[in-house]
Amino acid sequence: MIGRRTRVKKYGGTSVGSPERIRKVAKDLVDEHHRGSPQVVVASAMADTTEQLLSMARRVTSQPRARELDMMLTTGEQISIALLAMAVQEYGGKATALTGAQCGIRTDDNFTRARIQEISTQRILDILGRGDIVIVAGFQGVTSDDEITTLGRGGSDLTATALAAALEAPVCEIYTDVDGVFTADPRIVSEARLLSWISYEEMLEFAASGSRVLHPRSVEVASRFNVPLQVRSSFHDRPGTNITKEEELEKVAITGCTGDSNVARLALTRVKDVPGIAANISNALSDVGINIRLIIQGIRHDQTNDVSVIVSEDDAERSAEVLRRIAEGVGSTEVLVDTEVAKVSVIGSGIASTPGVAGRMFRALADEGINIELISSSEVRIACVIHRDRLSDAVRAIHREFDLENLERKRVVDKR
Ligand code: ADP
Ligand code: ASP
Ligand code: MG
Repeated sequence: MIGRRTRVKKYGGTSVGSPERIRKVAKDLVDEHHRGSPQVVVASAMADTTEQLLSMARRVTSQPRARELDMMLTTGEQISIALLAMAVQEYGGKATALTGAQCGIRTDDNFTRARIQEISTQRILDILGRGDIVIVAGFQGVTSDDEITTLGRGGSDLTATALAAALEAPVCEIYTDVDGVFTADPRIVSEARLLSWISYEEMLEFAASGSRVLHPRSVEVASRFNVPLQVRSSFHDRPGTNITKEEELEKVAITGCTGDSNVARLALTRVKDVPGIAANISNALSDVGINIRLIIQGIRHDQTNDVSVIVSEDDAERSAEVLRRIAEGVGSTEVLVDTEVAKVSVIGSGIASTPGVAGRMFRALADEGINIELISSSEVRIACVIHRDRLSDAVRAIHREFDLENLERKRVVDKR
């Protein structure tokens, strides 16, 4: 089947950010085509386009309806796929541009955060079969009622991995504006080290902790369907980062650290110390589709607790409304909202089995004079909520503490 020979590639916003960049990508695609590989290419909107569209909507209304937002946002990707197909044709190649709907990406109807339910690949396979490069609009799909949806910010990564899984493609290449996945965001830590290999599990933690380089759900899909993922630069030919199974890699305690400023902290003070309160708070938020990133209960000595939740900053206002509504019922008199916070995380599959990681992280922050407001930890991650102003300092201090600049992450032969 042609799908199993097809290279699925995704180009992010900067990589198709200007007519010149689009021509450069088109030239690479045509060269590859001449070498005989069928290609499915997912493109994002040109750099900043999605932001500009969003800010235009906000100038019209403070509460744009999600359905119309999606209708508008999907046009960004349509522009880049049309231009990319034209540029391929200009270089003498054959290309067909398809929207999410045209290439059979069916989603549920959760506008602005839709989930892919099904992909029918027949049209893509037919077009590949006649020798065209297929160019697909990232980040979008269509419901069974023909409503246009988007998959959430950064969702073109998900379009690419889901297509690679559906086509059973041998690889999904994510072309971006950095050389691959680093031990920390190279724009914050200049000494950050490029990782040749990283596991799906670690990559998922990186993504979920705010490192934009891959969308968390794209990593989930790749891992579930065993799609080999590569993250590499669209600006040169060097190899980048391969994402693979944990057991194929040499063990290390810590793989990297990452910061996330897209968070807000809300707190309900002095809630009653009785069963069911945490459930009430969590359910009230999840009922309106708000995802709690972290919930922490602090005990007082007067039969009350303070409950803090961390949510995405975009959800802060709606979360505050929900909490104000339920405050009285849980005995709380006050809802505090703080959007000047950020989260810094250290990530590694060896954290649970390596004593002292948390202590070293807290010490590194203390030595920088950075106050920790909340702490959470799991087998593979320790995260601290801190003041947003200090986020970059925190990432750099932790990177230094664990000497990540000199980290080696090697692939070892799978001995099983
Ligand atoms: P694209 O438009 O190609 O999808 P994104 O902006 O979504 O690109 O993601 C790439 C960005 O992710 C990089 O420019 C970099 O600043 C950021 N980033 C954050 N953490 C990391 C990391 N650990 N390794 C590489 N890039 C990272
Ligand atoms: N253009 C969309 C965004 O900016 C999707 C993507 O780039 O992956 O979020
Ligand atoms: Mg992205």
